[in-house]
Amino acid sequence: MRKTALITGITGQDGSYLSELLLKKNYKVHGFVRRNYNSKNLKSNWRIKSFKKKIFLHKVHIHDEEKIKNLILKIRPNEIYHLAAQSYVDYFKKVKKINTFDINFKFTKTILQVIKKNNINTRFFFAGSSEMYSNKINSKIDENCRFSPLSNYGLAKLKSFKLLKIFREKYGMHASMGILFNHESPRKDTSFVLRKISSSVAQIKYGLKKKIKLGDIKSERDWGHAKDFVKAMWLICQQKKPDDFIIGTGKIHSVEQFAKLAFNHARLDYKKYIEIDKTLLRKGDSRPRVANINKIKKKLKWKPIITFNNLAKDMVDSDLKRYNKR
Ligand code: NDP
Repeated sequence: MRKTALITGITGQDGSYLSELLLKKNYKVHGFVRRNYNSKNLKSNWRIKSFKKKIFLHKVHIHDEEKIKNLILKIRPNEIYHLAAQSYVDYFKKVKKINTFDINFKFTKTILQVIKKNNINTRFFFAGSSEMYSNKINSKIDENCRFSPLSNYGLAKLKSFKLLKIFREKYGMHASMGILFNHESPRKDTSFVLRKISSSVAQIKYGLKKKIKLGDIKSERDWGHAKDFVKAMWLICQQKKPDDFIIGTGKIHSVEQFAKLAFNHARLDYKKYIEIDKTLLRKGDSRPRVANINKIKKKLKWKPIITFNNLAKDMVDSDLKRYNKR
């Protein structure tokens, strides 16, 4: 029988790749959205534009429990992928507490409560984050490491996870979490550094821009490709028993390495175009968090396929195409 999935955050990077993956697997795909996505002029339409006719979008407000309930009862999804989030990591000083908590915690709470109260037989996946851990951990991070978030974003994710665990352990709900390390793609927002670089490479190549301003180019992360990560999300939902898994690559690379690969791919010398801007340096951004992916490798036979080099090529190729059309 054809399976049905419901994705929150379907218009985001991961939501869009996951939709494509599930459509390929012949799922019926529904998505919760916050705006009216039928408008042609809407900027955030771009990630789902090519397959929008194949999916079902429902406009809901994250606090509208009644509408969320009615929709879930109507859709009867076999699997719910809860990806909607405010994904900027606001450190405590800049925090807009209400917004981050509303979307990153209260929305999760509402969906879990609707599933429980209405006895909905579904599997629930929650997108956790490496930001649930501090950046003072010396070793690779596995599922047994103690959570100690340093950002409001990480705190909201942790709160969601604690609630998810209660629903799983107390009520037997099939609810799992993927603890996602950084992942990028041509569909990442340009406010994030790798996409900022790939889009700048394309603009410089076509003479639309002269330089790119960056902060700490020695800064390192465990970066993977979103296409690999959504496969892991799907695999997690296919398990008989719910469980939590670290999803990452286990390898670290620097911003500078990415810049070098990205500029090289467009036959440009990165050193000529980068300008260091001290105002872009982030405080408290010291040690990179690195994933230990042994559990997911062993239990789900998942591992990332797309290399860092190919991630850079994919992002630059896509931006070259995008800017060439303008
Ligand atoms: P994106 O920022 O690309 O997408 C976020 C999605 O959430 C969009 O669909 C957005 O809708 C929706 N959203 C944001 N705010 C609201 C709101 N107030 N009400 C309803 N919907 C809202 O994120 P990713 O796809 O990259 O990430 C997916 C998940 O994975 C997130 O939960 C994120 O926290 C988590 N994660 C991601 C990492 C990464 O490196 N990408 C790393 C660790 C965790 P709209 O299009 O309308 O803005």
